[in-house]
Amino acid sequence: MFEIQRTIKYEADRVPGFGREVMGVPGCEKLKDCIQCGTCSGVCPLSIYMDYTPRQVMALTREDFKREVLGSHTIWLCASCYACAVECPREIRITDIMYELKQRAIHEGVYPRRFPIPVLAQEFTKMVHDHGRVSEGLLVTKLFLKTNPLAALGMAKLGMGLMKTGRFSVKQENIKRRAELAKIVETVDQENLKGKA
Ligand code: SF4
Ligand code: SF4
Repeated sequence: MFEIQRTIKYEADRVPGFGREVMGVPGCEKLKDCIQCGTCSGVCPLSIYMDYTPRQVMALTREDFKREVLGSHTIWLCASCYACAVECPREIRITDIMYELKQRAIHEGVYPRRFPIPVLAQEFTKMVHDHGRVSEGLLVTKLFLKTNPLAALGMAKLGMGLMKTGRFSVKQENIKRRAELAKIVETVDQENLKGKA
């Protein structure tokens, strides 16, 4: 569990325009209607593990506290269960806002270092882009090496044993015509970035 942030926020910490930018993204517009009732935090099964509750993330985003939300663990702990969005009395698409914040955190490279979830998201996407297929053994190995290399060393013996019996592999699989898939992924990315400009 992460320590709940109770520090006072100052005007100088704001990045003016950030909240407006997020609310300009399709699906995130209703954030402006948040009444800070806390229903989202109450129904969220993971809020007890988050550094900011979903309600706090909505407030901080709307009020331009960019560094706080993009650097938070909350957006990565969100399991996309949609419970908050279903219960929100103002029909705010909280889950989609969390996705938008995750994308921005990766784009700006401000996610918590060595935290596995953003690393997994990036490695997964890169593998799909480069090879058209996710090779699970290789993905898990990369994840361990980038977030907890000591644990990877500790599991090396087990991994070798599983490799010998053919139950684990770090071989990268590829689809045919993967350059075409890469082009599609790049086009989607560019369209996404255009939407944020
Ligand atoms: S449930 Fe909706 S209105 Fe209430 S705090 Fe959460 S986002 Fe705001
Ligand atoms: S979608 Fe995310 S923030 Fe909303 S209730 Fe589920 S885990 Fe919590």
